Amino acid sequence: MGDHFERIVDLDVTAADAAASAERMVDWMVSRGWLLRETAGEGVYSLQVDEGYVAGPDRNRITQDWGDEWICAPVAVIVGRNAHYGGQGAIAPGTAKCPRCRASTVIIDYPRQWDADPAVWQPFSDAIDSWIESGDGAATCVTCATTSPITTWQWDDGFALGALAFDFWGWPPLTDDFIAEFTARLGHRVDHHTGKF
Ligand SMILES: [Zn+2]
Repeated sequence: MGDHFERIVDLDVTAADAAASAERMVDWMVSRGWLLRETAGEGVYSLQVDEGYVAGPDRNRITQDWGDEWICAPVAVIVGRNAHYGGQGAIAPGTAKCPRCRASTVIIDYPRQWDADPAVWQPFSDAIDSWIESGDGAATCVTCATTSPITTWQWDDGFALGALAFDFWGWPPLTDDFIAEFTARLGHRVDHHTGKF
Protein backbone atom coordinates (compact mmCIF):
# COMPACT_ATOMS: atom_id res chain seq x y z
CA MET A 1 0.00 0.00 0.00
CA GLY A 2 1.40 3.41 -0.87
CA ASP A 3 0.51 7.03 -0.41
CA HIS A 4 0.25 7.81 -4.11
CA PHE A 5 -3.00 8.20 -5.96
CA GLU A 6 -4.29 8.11 -9.49
CA ARG A 7 -7.19 10.48 -10.02
CA ILE A 8 -9.84 10.81 -12.70
CA VAL A 9 -11.90 14.01 -12.57
CA ASP A 10 -15.05 14.48 -14.64
CA LEU A 11 -14.63 18.08 -15.85
CA ASP A 12 -18.12 18.58 -17.24
CA VAL A 13 -20.67 16.76 -15.10
CA THR A 14 -23.05 19.08 -13.27
CA ALA A 15 -23.32 18.94 -9.50
CA ALA A 16 -26.94 17.80 -9.96
CA ASP A 17 -25.91 14.79 -12.06
CA ALA A 18 -22.73 13.88 -10.19
CA ALA A 19 -24.26 11.58 -7.56
CA ALA A 20 -26.16 9.51 -10.13
CA SER A 21 -23.07 9.31 -12.30
CA ALA A 22 -20.95 8.19 -9.33
CA GLU A 23 -23.45 5.47 -8.47
CA ARG A 24 -23.55 4.23 -12.06
CA MET A 25 -19.74 4.04 -12.26
CA VAL A 26 -19.43 2.27 -8.92
CA ASP A 27 -22.15 -0.23 -9.93
CA TRP A 28 -20.20 -0.95 -13.10
CA MET A 29 -16.88 -1.45 -11.31
CA VAL A 30 -18.50 -3.64 -8.64
CA SER A 31 -20.20 -5.75 -11.34
CA ARG A 32 -16.78 -6.37 -12.91
CA GLY A 33 -15.20 -7.37 -9.61
CA TRP A 34 -12.79 -4.42 -9.64
CA LEU A 35 -14.36 -2.92 -6.51
CA LEU A 36 -16.42 -4.23 -3.63
CA ARG A 37 -19.57 -2.55 -2.36
CA GLU A 38 -17.89 -2.45 1.04
CA THR A 39 -16.16 0.78 2.11
CA ALA A 40 -13.14 1.38 4.33
CA GLY A 41 -10.94 4.28 5.34
CA GLU A 42 -7.43 2.90 5.74
CA GLY A 43 -5.06 4.35 3.14
CA VAL A 44 -7.54 6.99 1.90
CA TYR A 45 -6.16 10.54 2.15
CA SER A 46 -8.59 12.43 -0.06
CA LEU A 47 -9.34 15.88 1.36
CA GLN A 48 -13.09 15.63 0.94
CA VAL A 49 -13.98 12.08 2.03
CA ASP A 50 -12.63 9.62 4.60
CA GLU A 51 -13.64 6.36 2.99
CA GLY A 52 -13.65 4.61 -0.34
CA TYR A 53 -14.71 1.40 -2.02
CA VAL A 54 -12.48 -1.57 -1.23
CA ALA A 55 -10.57 -3.12 -4.14
CA GLY A 56 -12.26 -6.20 -5.60
CA PRO A 57 -10.85 -9.62 -6.47
CA ASP A 58 -10.38 -8.79 -10.17
CA ARG A 59 -8.78 -5.37 -9.67
CA ASN A 60 -5.51 -6.53 -11.28
CA ARG A 61 -7.34 -6.75 -14.65
CA ILE A 62 -7.35 -2.95 -14.86
CA THR A 63 -3.85 -2.27 -13.58
CA GLN A 64 -0.27 -3.02 -14.41
CA ASP A 65 0.91 -6.25 -12.83
CA TRP A 66 2.64 -5.45 -9.55
CA GLY A 67 2.03 -8.98 -8.26
CA ASP A 68 -0.75 -10.55 -6.25
CA GLU A 69 0.81 -9.45 -2.98
CA TRP A 70 0.30 -5.76 -3.71
CA ILE A 71 -2.47 -4.31 -1.55
CA CYS A 72 -4.57 -1.53 -3.08
CA ALA A 73 -6.23 0.96 -0.75
CA PRO A 74 -9.87 1.93 -1.37
CA VAL A 75 -11.12 4.15 -4.20
CA ALA A 76 -12.56 7.42 -2.92
CA VAL A 77 -15.47 8.85 -4.89
CA ILE A 78 -15.84 12.61 -4.44
CA VAL A 79 -19.19 14.09 -5.38
CA GLY A 80 -19.80 17.84 -5.51
CA ARG A 81 -18.02 20.86 -6.98
CA ASN A 82 -14.43 20.81 -5.75
CA ALA A 83 -10.99 22.09 -6.52
CA HIS A 84 -8.76 19.01 -6.73
CA TYR A 85 -5.09 19.51 -5.94
CA GLY A 86 -2.26 17.36 -7.19
CA GLY A 87 -0.43 16.95 -3.91
CA GLN A 88 -0.51 17.45 -0.21
CA GLY A 89 -2.21 20.60 0.97
CA ALA A 90 -3.83 23.14 -1.27
CA ILE A 91 -0.93 24.34 -3.42
CA ALA A 92 -2.16 26.50 -6.27
CA PRO A 93 -1.48 25.38 -9.84
CA GLY A 94 1.67 26.83 -11.42
CA THR A 95 -0.09 28.15 -14.49
CA ALA A 96 -3.54 28.80 -15.92
CA LYS A 97 -4.06 28.57 -19.66
CA CYS A 98 -6.67 30.81 -21.27
CA PRO A 99 -9.27 28.82 -23.26
CA ARG A 100 -9.51 31.64 -25.84
CA CYS A 101 -5.93 32.65 -26.70
CA ARG A 102 -4.06 29.70 -25.09
CA ALA A 103 -1.68 32.06 -23.30
CA SER A 104 -0.45 30.76 -19.96
CA THR A 105 -0.65 33.01 -16.94
CA VAL A 106 2.12 32.22 -14.49
CA ILE A 107 0.73 31.81 -10.98
CA ILE A 108 3.83 30.34 -9.34
CA ASP A 109 7.09 31.50 -10.86
CA TYR A 110 9.08 28.27 -10.42
CA PRO A 111 11.87 27.87 -9.51
CA ARG A 112 12.30 31.40 -8.18
CA GLN A 113 9.07 31.22 -6.20
CA TRP A 114 7.33 28.32 -4.48
CA ASP A 115 4.10 30.07 -3.64
CA ALA A 116 1.42 31.63 -5.75
CA ASP A 117 1.78 35.32 -6.57
CA PRO A 118 -1.20 36.60 -4.56
CA ALA A 119 -2.11 39.31 -7.06
CA VAL A 120 -2.21 36.80 -9.91
CA TRP A 121 -3.90 33.97 -8.04
CA GLN A 122 -6.59 36.00 -6.25
CA PRO A 123 -8.92 36.54 -9.24
CA PHE A 124 -8.68 32.84 -10.14
CA SER A 125 -9.16 31.81 -6.53
CA ASP A 126 -12.21 34.09 -6.22
CA ALA A 127 -13.69 32.66 -9.42
CA ILE A 128 -13.11 29.11 -8.15
CA ASP A 129 -14.78 29.92 -4.82
CA SER A 130 -17.71 31.42 -6.65
CA TRP A 131 -18.02 28.35 -8.90
CA ILE A 132 -17.90 26.00 -5.89
CA GLU A 133 -20.64 28.00 -4.23
CA SER A 134 -22.97 28.70 -7.13
CA GLY A 135 -21.77 26.77 -10.19
CA ASP A 136 -20.69 30.00 -11.87
CA GLY A 137 -17.35 31.75 -11.85
CA ALA A 138 -15.20 33.40 -14.49
CA ALA A 139 -11.69 34.80 -14.85
CA THR A 140 -10.30 37.35 -17.25
CA CYS A 141 -7.16 36.67 -19.26
CA VAL A 142 -4.44 39.30 -18.86
CA THR A 143 -3.21 38.60 -22.39
CA CYS A 144 -6.40 38.82 -24.47
CA ALA A 145 -8.76 40.43 -21.94
CA THR A 146 -11.42 37.77 -22.56
CA THR A 147 -13.47 36.60 -19.59
CA SER A 148 -14.09 32.83 -19.64
CA PRO A 149 -15.83 30.40 -17.29
CA ILE A 150 -13.34 29.15 -14.73
CA THR A 151 -14.08 25.53 -15.68
CA THR A 152 -12.77 26.12 -19.21
CA TRP A 153 -9.29 27.18 -18.10
CA GLN A 154 -6.49 24.60 -18.17
CA TRP A 155 -4.23 24.06 -15.20
CA ASP A 156 -1.00 22.24 -14.53
CA ASP A 157 0.39 20.40 -11.49
CA GLY A 158 -2.57 18.04 -11.35
CA PHE A 159 -5.01 20.78 -10.45
CA ALA A 160 -8.56 20.24 -11.70
CA LEU A 161 -12.06 21.57 -11.12
CA GLY A 162 -14.92 19.11 -11.27
CA ALA A 163 -18.07 17.88 -9.56
CA LEU A 164 -17.05 14.21 -9.61
CA ALA A 165 -13.66 12.65 -8.94
CA PHE A 166 -12.31 9.16 -8.34
CA ASP A 167 -9.13 8.75 -6.30
CA PHE A 168 -7.50 5.33 -6.62
CA TRP A 169 -5.24 5.16 -3.56
CA GLY A 170 -2.10 3.07 -3.79
CA TRP A 171 -3.11 1.19 -6.93
CA PRO A 172 -0.57 0.08 -9.53
CA PRO A 173 -0.90 2.25 -12.68
CA LEU A 174 -4.31 1.86 -14.30
CA THR A 175 -4.26 0.51 -17.85
CA ASP A 176 -4.89 2.77 -20.84
CA ASP A 177 -7.79 0.52 -21.85
CA PHE A 178 -9.43 1.02 -18.48
CA ILE A 179 -8.97 4.81 -18.59
CA ALA A 180 -10.45 4.89 -22.11
CA GLU A 181 -13.48 2.81 -21.13
CA PHE A 182 -13.95 4.73 -17.89
CA THR A 183 -13.87 8.03 -19.78
CA ALA A 184 -16.30 6.78 -22.42
CA ARG A 185 -18.73 5.67 -19.73
CA LEU A 186 -18.56 9.02 -17.98
CA GLY A 187 -19.27 10.62 -21.36
CA HIS A 188 -17.39 13.83 -20.56
CA ARG A 189 -13.96 15.41 -20.73
CA VAL A 190 -11.75 14.15 -17.92
CA ASP A 191 -8.55 15.12 -16.27
CA HIS A 192 -6.40 12.12 -15.39
CA HIS A 193 -3.28 12.45 -13.30
CA THR A 194 -1.25 10.92 -10.54
CA GLY A 195 -0.11 12.49 -7.32
CA LYS A 196 1.47 11.82 -3.97
CA PHE A 197 0.27 12.66 -0.55
ZN1 LIG B 1 -6.46 34.85 -23.36
